Amino acid sequence: MAKNLSFSYSKMGMYKECPQKYKFRYVHMLPEKPKYYFAFGSALHAVMEFIYNPQKPVFPTLTEALKFFDTTWNKTSFEQKGYASVEKELEGYAEGRRILESYYAQNAAAFTHPLSVETKSTLEIDGLNLISILDRMDYLGDGKIKILDYKTGKTVQREPDQLYMYQKVVENSPVIKALVQAKDPSVKEVRVGELSFYHLPTLTEMKFERAPDKEIFSFWQGVLKIADSIRAGKFDPTPGENQCRWCDYRNLCPVFTGKEYGASSSVKETHALPPTAQNPQEELSQKIDRLGELRAEAKKLEQEIITLMQQNKFERHFGSTFKAELNTCEKVELTDNAQVVELLTKLGLLDKVLVPTKTTVVRLLTDDTVSAKDKEQLRALVRRVQEVQLALEKIAQLP
Ligand code: SF4
Repeated sequence: MAKNLSFSYSKMGMYKECPQKYKFRYVHMLPEKPKYYFAFGSALHAVMEFIYNPQKPVFPTLTEALKFFDTTWNKTSFEQKGYASVEKELEGYAEGRRILESYYAQNAAAFTHPLSVETKSTLEIDGLNLISILDRMDYLGDGKIKILDYKTGKTVQREPDQLYMYQKVVENSPVIKALVQAKDPSVKEVRVGELSFYHLPTLTEMKFERAPDKEIFSFWQGVLKIADSIRAGKFDPTPGENQCRWCDYRNLCPVFTGKEYGASSSVKETHALPPTAQNPQEELSQKIDRLGELRAEAKKLEQEIITLMQQNKFERHFGSTFKAELNTCEKVELTDNAQVVELLTKLGLLDKVLVPTKTTVVRLLTDDTVSAKDKEQLRALVRRVQEVQLALEKIAQLP
């Protein structure tokens, strides 16, 4: 008997976006780069799971929830989360705390325990192992369930495929049926009573009714068709400006390289965008890669020159056309970002800086409205480091 295909809503989304991308990710098993918005979303999802844990009779206080968020957030570096810099990561951190504070202010008085949180269901159905994780389920009585999905992106909109998938899973999953029957043994059949997207950044809930069976049937036919295409190895790329611009596999993709990934010598032309010198996308990609390589090489060379000059105690040295000079400058660093945010909150200065970065914190140190005592505490979290920089100047040539 053929093995079931492991499938999920996100896998389906990727295949619909571009089958070639799906192939890179799930056939070749090449991981994508970390994305900051996933890290941000999963930290907030973890806190919501912590708050509503049905095993814990007492809900955590805001301070406990923030502490849990801090611990979760600090498990990984800014690079591991996919942020471009520490400053950007700090913005995400401050935004996460702001969301939790607003969430508590609006909802804490009415917290109720759900049926379950972060429920993982693996449903074997029609040759698929359908894997889903449901953020939160509430029991509405009479076998009916409310499904709530937390959203943490910039906006929230109706995503019919996701709603349909949830409905299909909830109404067929033995795991979910067992959960409901543990609460209400008289239940014979589980039905969706309500589906809801909860947008955490704006504390806005969008509610949807159960979809008619007819819609679920036609959605499911579409899912099975995609599964058949995957089994048949249909992974033709479907390039487009949006999906290709953000795709991590561009450098491997046959649309941009002109050859199949993994093919050693046989170059297979693709029908989509032939990589000729006239193709502007290809030309641009080559130039970007070349510039990246040149910059990396220049950085390495610069470091070698600095090391040589320092070893020989040269402050200045001449090539035949350029003069090199070493300059030492002082840079400021924050010793511990989390501590800085904590202190600014304690001193009531967080609103003043909006986003705590090196620049905004240093500005506070020269701000006349900040007391000397507060400045002293802040200064303890600022470290000054010496940085050696290489200045290059073209030597004027005699006529
Ligand atoms: S670069 Fe574009 S065509 Fe290639 S895999 Fe990515 S999304 Fe698909």
